[in-house]
Parts: sequence; C-alpha cells; structure tokens
Amino acid sequence: MGQAVAGPAWPIAEKLRQGSALSAAELEHLVRHRTPELAEYLAEAARAACEAVYGDALFARGLIEISNFCRNDCYYCGIRRGNRSVARYRLAPEEVLACADEGWRAGFRTFVLQGGEDAALTDAWLCAVVGALKAAHPDCAVTLSVGERSPASYRRLRAAGADRYLLRHETATASHYRQLHPRPLTLEARMACLQALREAGFAVGAGFMVGSPGQTAAHLAADLAFVQQFRPEMCGIGPFVPHHATPFAAQPAGSVELTCYLLSIIRLMNPAVLLPATTALEALDPEGRARAVRAGANVVMPNLSPPAVQGSYQLYDNKPAGGEAAQQLWDALALKARGWGKRLVEDRGDPAPAPAGGSSLVGAPVSADALALDAAPVPADAPAPVGGSASVSTGATASIATSAAPSSPDSISPCPKEA
Ligand code: SAH
Repeated sequence: MGQAVAGPAWPIAEKLRQGSALSAAELEHLVRHRTPELAEYLAEAARAACEAVYGDALFARGLIEISNFCRNDCYYCGIRRGNRSVARYRLAPEEVLACADEGWRAGFRTFVLQGGEDAALTDAWLCAVVGALKAAHPDCAVTLSVGERSPASYRRLRAAGADRYLLRHETATASHYRQLHPRPLTLEARMACLQALREAGFAVGAGFMVGSPGQTAAHLAADLAFVQQFRPEMCGIGPFVPHHATPFAAQPAGSVELTCYLLSIIRLMNPAVLLPATTALEALDPEGRARAVRAGANVVMPNLSPPAVQGSYQLYDNKPAGGEAAQQLWDALALKARGWGKRLVEDRGDPAPAPAGGSSLVGAPVSADALALDAAPVPADAPAPVGGSASVSTGATASIATSAAPSSPDSISPCPKEA
C-alpha cells in the first residue's frame, strides 16, 4: 500500500493510521499534500476504524428546524439577521412534538432541535419542549443546536433532559473567525461555550465548514488540531455553500473531495467520534453523502421539519427541502445504507465509551495552545479582505465582498454571564 501512496505526506498518514497524535505542522502537511491515492488509503483505514467501534450501523438523527429567527449576522449564513428576504417562523411546541412523533414511528431515536439564536427560545420554552419530548419518547436522545447561551442556561437544558449539543466552532483561528462573523461574535466566546457545554454534561459536537472564504491549509490544520485535543463526541464538517443573499454570495463553494479527506482524518484521530454525512455535501453532489460514508462518516440527519417551513430554513443555496414524510425518508435511507454497506438502525446511536486505557486527551479542556488565538488586532465590523492566502479548495485567491455588515445594537454578547 505504501508504494501506491508514496508522496510527501505518506509517513504522516501512516503515523495517523497507527494512532499517533499529529502536530499542527504535520496536519498542515497532510492537508496540503492530498492526492487521490492518499485520500483513498485514508478512507479505507477510516472505514475500518469506524467499523471496529460501531460495526456496520448507520445512525439517523431526525432534524427539526424549530426557528429561523436569528439575532446574529454571520456572513455565510442564509438566515442571518440582515437577510430581509427570509420569511421568519417559529414552530409551536406541539408542532415540534408532532414532527418527533412522526419520526419516532418511522424509526428515528434521536431528534435534533436546531434553530437560529432566537430570543423567544427561552430556557423555559426549550426545557418544556425537551421535557415533553423525553416524556413522550423516553427511548430517544434529544440533541439541541441553538447557539451560544450562558453556562447556567446550558445546565438547565441538560437538567431538562437534553443529551447532546451541537455547536460548531466554525474555525479555530481567531483572525479567520473574524472574517466569517461580525462583532460581537468571537472565537473565544465560542470556545467558552463548548467548554461550558462539556462541563454541563452534554455530549458535545464541534465542527467547521470546509472552503469557507479566506480559509487556508493552516486554518484547517488548526481545526484538526483542535478536534484532536478537545475530542468532541460529534464533529460536523461540511463544505461551505454560498447563499445568494449574504455577503459571501459570490464566494466559491468548498470541495467535496477535501471534506471527505478531512472526515477520514478525523475518524482516524478518534475512531469513536460520531461523524455526520452532512446535508451540505448533498447540496453540491447528489452522491455527497455516499462519499462521506465511504470516507468514514456514520451518521445521517434527514430533515423532519414541517414541509411548509423547510424552504425558509435555507442556510445556503440548494439546501434540499423536499418535504418527504418521515417514513419515506427512513425507507429511502435504509435502502441507500444497504448500498453503502451499512445498516440503518433504530437506535439512539450514543457515542461509544472511550476505550479502556485510552488517551488521556479524552475530554481535554480547551487549551490556548490548540487554538490559533492569534494576536491580530480586532478589525472593523465588515469582513476584511483576505490577502495573499490561497483558498485550499479552489487554489484561487479568496477575496471577500466587503458589503456593509450593519453594526448590531441588539446583539447579545456571546455566552452572557448568568443573571
Ligand atoms: N444557530 C446555531 C445553528 C447554526 S446552523 C448555531 O449557532 O450553532 C448550523 C451550521 O450550519 C452552522 O454551524 C454552520 O457551520 C452551517 N452553515 C451555515 N451557513 C452555511 C453555509 N453557507 N454553507 C455551509 N454551511 C453553513
């Protein structure tokens, strides 16, 4: 095998396959020197690593998009506050429960409640919905994905019965974070939230976009180094896909191939991580999810939101909004899974426990070393043009539209202190 993949990154890939931690420099080398042969080699190793922990199971999560109101103005996101063309909605608690009931009958045993940072999603509202959902379906896991909140809020949500929380770190490099988000959003606050989620007892999902504007190989290496150190139970990575009504409308999409390569690397870094084959992959390639599963992904997240609102939760262009019934989705996926050499299982799909005598890194707190908390001064609110750094996905120099990003008087400060 070594012969076939010989190349500058081969020894590093081999080290990764054997279970050694890699330095940021090694990770960057691996990102820069991707070849189809190396990607295939790592994909095969990643599939085997996944199978050793989870067998042939493919886990399903029923995604329920509870609200598209959002106080934030992330430059990449289609439901950002500044996009006036979005028809805003918030599901009623009964609607959320009805989606879950339908999903449960079809076989789903995890529900992901995702939404924008909507002030109406108070702790009381969310705790009531989580409590009712767990009471109706005690055999199910509930995952929340509703952004940055205070440590006390996270503790309340956990006490109400929520099991897991998805909060992608988006990029582990502070200067790049500022290119993707206006003030007051900061990487430091994002990381503090991830830490608070872990301390509250959630299974935590981090993650990042691949090919986001301004992203370099060094940024991706920092993302991988962070994942290697923090060891999230789940890791959502998907290609950046432009949305027409955002400042990044004209930016190129990320690469499906690179996303799959990174999935394999993350699987090998942590064989027990739960890795979704993300919907953004499907937006770019009808075979995107199949390719992700081949590269080591083991989770799918079909959309159980009411068909009438699916079109209003467009984080990016071409996001599938087919509005199929839960049973139809389940049956179609079960069939697809068989074609992928997997078995769609009626199971919560909890994270596997860390292996006995496993790495002391498990559950490691966020350390400043793992983060590229560079010392660059905080720029103005509008995204800064990215100079000189070649985009990893396209090889083209990324220049970011400097369209006006209004300052945000009503923005919360991330992770507000407890009252
Ligand atoms: N408000 C929640 C949920 C955000 S939406 C939160 O802050 O966590 C879920 C994820 O979609 C985001 O974390 C982001 O990584 C991804 N996303 C948003 N816009 C995208 C785009 N244009 N292309 C690809 N992924 C995108």
